[in-house]
This record gives sequence, structure tokens and C-alpha cells, in this order.
Amino acid sequence: MYTMKAFGSKSYKEVALRLTNSDVRPLTHRVTIYHYLLTHLTHPTVDNIYSDLVQTMPSLSKTTVYNVLDLLCEKGLVKQLTIEGNEARYDADMEEHMHFKCSECKTVFDLKDVPFPSIELPSGLVIEHIQLNIEGKCSACAKAC
Ligand SMILES: [Zn+2]
Ligand SMILES: [Zn+2]
Repeated sequence: MYTMKAFGSKSYKEVALRLTNSDVRPLTHRVTIYHYLLTHLTHPTVDNIYSDLVQTMPSLSKTTVYNVLDLLCEKGLVKQLTIEGNEARYDADMEEHMHFKCSECKTVFDLKDVPFPSIELPSGLVIEHIQLNIEGKCSACAKAC
């Protein structure tokens, strides 16, 4: 069951203020979803977010979740990861980092301390943003094989 109180570090007010600072009106659904992402850096899917939040917010619809996520992405507060083709995951950690997805347990790990490989592009091309996802087996799953 998801409750705001379970995550002491970021209060509702703080999250609402962050939204206001990014020109997003801090409506309850928006604050709750953004708060969820800030406290769940596990790269949840829309289904994860919806099924956790609807328990305490019965008025929530999946469409609302999609709309809020679109808005947060557009405002640069949240990143959409396209690790699997069919299922988007969301990350509120906006620092550039790579991801490693375990093909066995489906966990998506952050590779925070791994430097991005340097990429030489043909002249004229300007990088705006890089998304790099690696797939493999995590150490626990690799051991179990
Ligand atoms: Zn694994
Ligand atoms: Zn991440």
C-alpha cells in the first residue's frame, strides 16, 4: 500500500514546489505521481505506478497516469526509458546514466559510476541526449545459472 508517509525524505510540499518551479500546476494527481517516481527509482512502468497508487487514490485512472507522465517528461522532470519496445519505464533521476536490464529477473539497474563511452559522430550532428541500455544477467541471476 502506498502512503506518502512511508517516504519521509520528500514531503508533499517539497514535491509540489518542484512542480511549481517547473511551471506545472501542482494538482494532487501530479504531485502524487511525481512523488512516487522520486521515491521509487526502480524505473516503474505505467502499470506499476497505477496499481500502487490506485489503492490510496481510487479516483485515479490509467489515462491520468499517462497524461501526467507525458507532462512531467515534457517539462524535463522525468525521463521515459525505452528499454523494452513495448513497455515504457520512467525515471525521475535526470542525471545522465546508463541502465542495465537483467533478462532473467527483469530488474533495471542504474549504472551511475560507469562513464559513457565517447562517441565520435560525423560532423554536423549534434547530440541532444543519449540513452544507453545494456541487457544481460545481474550477478544474482548469473550465479543461479
Ligand atoms: Zn537478475
Ligand atoms: Zn535510472
